[in-house]
Amino acid sequence: MDVSHILDGLNAEQREAVSSTPGHRLVLAGAGSGKTRVLVHRIAWIIQVEGISPFGVLAVTFTNKAAAEMRARAEALLGMPTRGLWIGTFHGLAHRMLRAHYREAHLPQGFQILDSEDQRRVLKRVIRGLELDESRWPAKQSAWYINARKDEGRRPQHLQDSGDPVAQQLIRIYTAYESACERAGAVDFAELLLRSLELIRDNQALQAHYRKRFRHLLVDEMQDTNTLQYAWLRLLAGERGLVFAVGDDDQSIYGWRGARVENMLNFARDFPGCEEIRLERNYRSTATILKAANGLIERNTDRLGKRLWTEGADGDPIGLYTAYNESDEARFIVDRVQHWAEQGGRRDECAVLYRSNAQSRVLEEHLLAAGVPYRVYGGLRFFERAEIKDALAYLRVISNRHDDASLERIINQPPRGIGERTVSLLRDAARRQNASLWDAACGREHGLPPRALGAVQRFVDLIETLAEAAGQQELPGQVETVVQDSGLLEHYRADRSERGQARLENLGELVTAARTFAFSAEEAEAMSPLDSFLAQAALEAGEAQGGAGEDCVQLMTMHSAKGLEFPMVFLAGLEEGLFPHQMSIEDPSRLEEERRLCYVGITRAQRHLTISYAEHRRLHGRETFAEPSRFVRELPGELLEEIRPRLQVSRPVISAPADPPPQGLSVGQRVQHATFGEGVVLDYEGQGNHARVQVNFRDAGAKWLVLAYAKLQTL
Ligand code: ATP
Ligand code: MG
Repeated sequence: MDVSHILDGLNAEQREAVSSTPGHRLVLAGAGSGKTRVLVHRIAWIIQVEGISPFGVLAVTFTNKAAAEMRARAEALLGMPTRGLWIGTFHGLAHRMLRAHYREAHLPQGFQILDSEDQRRVLKRVIRGLELDESRWPAKQSAWYINARKDEGRRPQHLQDSGDPVAQQLIRIYTAYESACERAGAVDFAELLLRSLELIRDNQALQAHYRKRFRHLLVDEMQDTNTLQYAWLRLLAGERGLVFAVGDDDQSIYGWRGARVENMLNFARDFPGCEEIRLERNYRSTATILKAANGLIERNTDRLGKRLWTEGADGDPIGLYTAYNESDEARFIVDRVQHWAEQGGRRDECAVLYRSNAQSRVLEEHLLAAGVPYRVYGGLRFFERAEIKDALAYLRVISNRHDDASLERIINQPPRGIGERTVSLLRDAARRQNASLWDAACGREHGLPPRALGAVQRFVDLIETLAEAAGQQELPGQVETVVQDSGLLEHYRADRSERGQARLENLGELVTAARTFAFSAEEAEAMSPLDSFLAQAALEAGEAQGGAGEDCVQLMTMHSAKGLEFPMVFLAGLEEGLFPHQMSIEDPSRLEEERRLCYVGITRAQRHLTISYAEHRRLHGRETFAEPSRFVRELPGELLEEIRPRLQVSRPVISAPADPPPQGLSVGQRVQHATFGEGVVLDYEGQGNHARVQVNFRDAGAKWLVLAYAKLQTL
């Protein structure tokens, strides 16, 4: 058989990895060395050369976007569709199993997925139900606790009562939360995985079935698997399944969420006969970008240690822009993107990466003002927008009346005279009867005053009417009915503001999404199109949105950029306290994780990398004056080039007209300082004895100095 198309375009080590005999394999290699590429080619090899049916292969990656790309690339290599091949995220695959075996998993057929916001709402109710003070027991903290326990595979009954009153209370909340979910037929994200693990662990027939089926298991981004995901993998592999894992310890960035880089180190022990393969040649970035990445990551002590090399050209130096404030930074980035597009580049070749989601707002503002289309990955995504969540909540209640979280969201949305007091009476009644809110609303035990009763009755009737209408329609019709007849459309139409308009458009977009929604034949056997659509909405919240196919600038956090690559990358907001994040600065191991995150950011860039930081930043409503990030200083200085369109920067209104430059100095001038060493003049202000100058020192970072004392020598 001619297999050259599978091995073409691979180097010797990559070929070895792809075509090695069946067995456990661990590819440990740096960024851009072709790990994902190797994994995809290995899938094709297994199917085409080893003759394994696509049904016998399971591949796990980190995001739905990556999964979709992986499938497309595998299909292109194989020259055929890959039905039956399981490619997805851990959550997605676990969800698929639970749908197929909902009975064995002790779930109702139409079980719903709680996203993090839903989860918090349920927890709030639970905490109130336990009569705990919400300010002492914030839902967020409980959610964190519960998710962490689930990620370790632990149910309330596995948790020891250590006598610590806080732990005791959290266990109580966890217990009550479990029953609330059980009652509502709802599962949160961590539950998807834990439930499916328990399913295969405890059900021998299913275990045997899946172990027999999946002879090959492939995992991308192994360094970021958590305890539960690793256990899931081991369980599924059993004695005979062959695992092909790829990862990079230098890119482990989810330790804060329970990921364990040790999983990669333990791999050889847990999967006997495992062969380790290293790839060292980087195909992604210019030599300059790679040197910067290497220079930075070398500062970490806790590494397996690898070096990456490239045959690529040096390329441009790394741009460094010192912005006056966050607006100036955004304006600068937008200018650059526009320039790129004017030169014939595509906008979607540009990615702006930042540490914290909140940073996207200012960038979005400037992109909007400049009319540059963009797409935000993460942040407030389509399926997480309020109006979309409203409509989805109606659909969920229609599918399952006992979904308390959704019911609570819409019982007075749009407002229909059902106030907090009424809801609270219903909640009490539900608790007394150990029933759902819906049951309480339909019953007579709630002791509601007549007016409230009327309003609740009308709500119940509305849901029944919607459900009946939906029962006779296909999915798009169902969504349209709900959007129209729930009163949501009218409600948002009354809001004449831009935002109201945007909400109307989004609701329209939801109907379009339902129309173009494709669900697989396999799914069709397991659930209704509506449930399948709702599941996808829950699983995809947190990922891409925006006009499909439009040429948009890509905005995302560095975390969500993992595994991706772009010709032109901006890393924005490199300031101490923002990146590295304030919470990580004191703790050496967390600081190393931040540095790895920066390494991930840098290594996304193929040809151009631009780093920026702002001297003043308003974020989360606070104004900060930050130092440039230590990561900027840790980059080899000779790779950086200061970018200085600063003279066009508009100063805040309060400042005086621009001062003439102090004698002998100009922006961009190289200078030498006795203590701080060499640097570049960035800015100046004031006159005579008051003249101050800002210098960006190669080692010490940017500093304002009083000129009269600084004794700078020009170079
Ligand atoms: P990351 O650690 O960031 O996930 P990776 O190791 O998974 O990176 P890939 O994304 O698979 O790396 O590959 C990086 C880039 O290099 C891709 O554009 C890929 O197509 C290209 N590439 C990989 N191997 C080769 C090769 N042998 N010849 C040409 N291009 C290659
Ligand atoms: Mg990869």
